[in-house]
Amino acid sequence: MPRDRVIVIGAGIGGLTSAAQLAARGMRVRVLESADYPGGKMRQIDINGRGIDSGPTVFTMRWIFEDLFSDAGASLSDYLRLQPLEIIARHAWSEHERLDLFSDHERSIEAIGDFAGAAEARGYRAFSEQARIIYETLDKTFIRDTRPSILGLVGRCGIRGFGNLSGIKPYDSLWQTLGQYFKDERLRQLFGRYSTYCGSSPFESPATLMLIAHVEQQGVWSIEGGMHQLACALGRLAQEHGAEFRYGTRVEEILVEHGRTTGVRLADGEVIPADAVIFNGDPAALAAGHLGATAAKALPGHRHATRSLSAITWSLVAKTEGFPLARHNVFFSRDYAAEFKDLFRHARLPDEGTLYICAQDRGAELDGNSTEGERLFCLLNAPARGDVHPFDASEIDQCEQRVFSLLERYGLRVCKRAQETQVTTPARFDQLFPATGGALYGQATHGWRASFNRPGSRTRIHRLYLAGGSTHPGAGVPMAAMSGRLAANCLFEDLGST
Ligand SMILES: Cc1cc2nc3c(=O)[nH]c(=O)nc-3n(C[C@H](O)[C@H](O)[C@H](O)COP(=O)(O)OP(=O)(O)OC[C@H]3O[C@@H](n4cnc5c(N)ncnc54)[C@H](O)[C@@H]3O)c2cc1C
Repeated sequence: MPRDRVIVIGAGIGGLTSAAQLAARGMRVRVLESADYPGGKMRQIDINGRGIDSGPTVFTMRWIFEDLFSDAGASLSDYLRLQPLEIIARHAWSEHERLDLFSDHERSIEAIGDFAGAAEARGYRAFSEQARIIYETLDKTFIRDTRPSILGLVGRCGIRGFGNLSGIKPYDSLWQTLGQYFKDERLRQLFGRYSTYCGSSPFESPATLMLIAHVEQQGVWSIEGGMHQLACALGRLAQEHGAEFRYGTRVEEILVEHGRTTGVRLADGEVIPADAVIFNGDPAALAAGHLGATAAKALPGHRHATRSLSAITWSLVAKTEGFPLARHNVFFSRDYAAEFKDLFRHARLPDEGTLYICAQDRGAELDGNSTEGERLFCLLNAPARGDVHPFDASEIDQCEQRVFSLLERYGLRVCKRAQETQVTTPARFDQLFPATGGALYGQATHGWRASFNRPGSRTRIHRLYLAGGSTHPGAGVPMAAMSGRLAANCLFEDLGST
């Protein structure tokens, strides 16, 4: 029997996961990727021969990858070396206001007590418990479902399970709900920041996003050699099962006949036939007709969704002074409401933005602040307007000066040199991920229905599937992988049934 031919467009985490899973199940898989490397957003930038992770840096939910490798007859630990981090993240509001969260939950409670008092520590304990309940309720009923609906969710949760969710008032925003647990604005800010993991505002996201807090409490790991190694490992796993990879290969059109996909056409005109296609790019590109006018019909109505956040990022090698950096560090702005008003309502760079810094040589891989300087990745949230606004050199220069001089307020000095710094703007992200304006997490998770509005694995076109962080169940490396698994399962089910 000839084996079914599957084309995966894109070697991001979702595409790689689908490819590995389908190849392991004996399908003939071809991955076509326009970049010259696997990983998509999980990319590294080279500065002086040192690879700097310049996409995701926080690795959580390792069990999703352990399951994937073991289902393919392999073991994650044979491909990657992971180190648990003792400090999940260091948070700062000024030179004298710092708070670490730890992988040891009791230690975090104690740290919060020391930082903000016993009542806030109790609030954190209650908040963590609610975050756990939400996570456990939604894990099986929502996250692992290929196209969840509100009715379906109620049905699967059962009355008792749904009671767990309604305990948090689904119409309340994350920010409002955090007020029930914390009086200290700084803690509200810290836990509200989890909404930015899906590129959204804490003032508009549903309270269910507090489940991210639970995910981080289950562990954060560093990967030896950097996050990019995860993409390389998934690529290797797929290849070992016979998947073929073609890099530097852009798909121009998804071919559709009689409502069903029949293959793809590349930029040079080559046609590759297939029995099924998985699209790992942003669904916005599909909906906007970047893969052909017929393929755009796969997602009617998608174009009007609110975009999630983009970012300005600095990948650099520099010496630092003053502030004792952990691996993950967050420097909070003084006015969170104003920051998100700038980002979403005015669609402009914030006057004063919260800055995330990943100091990649700290933590598990300790070589610290060496004489040549250390590898840093700095991220400032930005509006996803890269398709309509140039973010030119003078605007970026001004923003950079503001951001790095503000760091001195927290006691941190970064001795940065232009030739050892690479900046990525929303306009550049828009080039890398077309039709997004630079949005990095698909559509924004704003309003209680938002999670149900993400496109699911199946589309309106038969045998054309979606995988990636911009589809259900959501943004982030583990969710993109989950979506890759869901797409592969749907495809397998559909091909198996014919
Ligand atoms: C700066 C940054 C920081 C982040 N931090 C974290 C973090 O700490 N933790 C976390 O879990 N997540 C984080 N994320 C989110 C996470 O990286 C993404 O959700 C996830 O990697 C998305 O994977 P994906 O499967 O959607 O594929 P993508 O990474 O979006 O890749 C899609 C691929 O498809 C290719 N492609 C698209 N169209 C075509 C075409 N027509 N032909 C050929 N190829 C095509 C693209 O070139 C690309 O390689 C971060 C993201 C960014 C950008």
